[in-house]
Amino acid sequence: MKALASVERPARETADPPARLWRPKRVLVSRSAMAWSHGRAIIARAEGLGIAVEVLASDRLSLAFPEDERQAYALAKQTLTVVVASPSKRRLQPIAPSADWRVDLAEGCPAHCSYCYLAGSLKGPPITRTYANLPEIFAELPPHLGTGKVTSRSVRRAHEGTTFEASCYTDPLALEHLTGSLSALIAYFGEWEADAQLRFTSKFAAVDALVGLDHQGRTRMRGSVNPEPFARFEGGTSPVAARLAALARMAAAGYPVGLTIAPIIAAPGWEEAYAVLIAQAAALLAEVPDLTIELITHRYSPTSKAVLESWYPGSDLEMGAPNRAEKRTKFGSIKYVYDADTMRTLRRFFEAEIARQLPLARILYWT
Ligand code: SF4
Repeated sequence: MKALASVERPARETADPPARLWRPKRVLVSRSAMAWSHGRAIIARAEGLGIAVEVLASDRLSLAFPEDERQAYALAKQTLTVVVASPSKRRLQPIAPSADWRVDLAEGCPAHCSYCYLAGSLKGPPITRTYANLPEIFAELPPHLGTGKVTSRSVRRAHEGTTFEASCYTDPLALEHLTGSLSALIAYFGEWEADAQLRFTSKFAAVDALVGLDHQGRTRMRGSVNPEPFARFEGGTSPVAARLAALARMAAAGYPVGLTIAPIIAAPGWEEAYAVLIAQAAALLAEVPDLTIELITHRYSPTSKAVLESWYPGSDLEMGAPNRAEKRTKFGSIKYVYDADTMRTLRRFFEAEIARQLPLARILYWT
């Protein structure tokens, strides 16, 4: 692999630049969402930030988008809707290898990552929908206690209890200043005296509202990180130094924390770039007890590739190089992962580098 000429070793002190906060251009609220106090609280938050809110007369979100694909994409990414999660959206789904169950507070994300995993799973223009009926969503959790096939069945991770992952269809921290939903869920787990843990991962850094919550150690935040040279693939997110500083603040506030290194991209210069990233993390987090690390390599499906190429036509993110292998998922669909040689090289590197720079950390999985 070639080295990246522009990669520099980090200073040991990491600056803490201000977190970027999303300001949607339009906020639409469905009639049913208005019936929930949390829906009304979101309106108050948006209006408090000077953002105009439109309350609809019905639950039909008849959103008009421009014909032009680029303009439609841009408008969708600037749109927040406040709706009620239907029973099917509230039904918890398994989410291996991260956690036992997936719990959704919202769908969609305002950022512009050229590999976004949502491209293959959410249909239509990429608007963000946040849910008003939190009590109904939270009511789904207790019946799942002690069930699930990841931490609940694992000897290595059993001490995490039954785990619930809140970052599958959104980045909940990206919306928190507008919704307060993540704080409400963290507070719920703080009060829930059960062998359960909430998990979320984020490419954002605005943790001010979270550090003072009574979390009781039952929420683990992970920072989703990639090295600075790959920041061009993560438009609209917080700088990686700010994400790491946010994690350090959360750890100081008693939260269990971790890193999601994702997606791992085997672009030229990756070895040096990821070594620098791990050094940046070590400078802030090496002494954190029970630091967890999740390692997720870049993958895509034919569908997500087509969507991402239409969203980000100028991106130089590789999707189609010869170092890819076709893999059939358990649902019969196809995805492209790195081939066995590349996977082996990547894995060996990460395991060695983490053992060297973050010897106290625990790798949860490699995928
Ligand atoms: Fe997608 Fe995560 Fe990037 Fe949001 S931050 S665009 S959810 S990859």
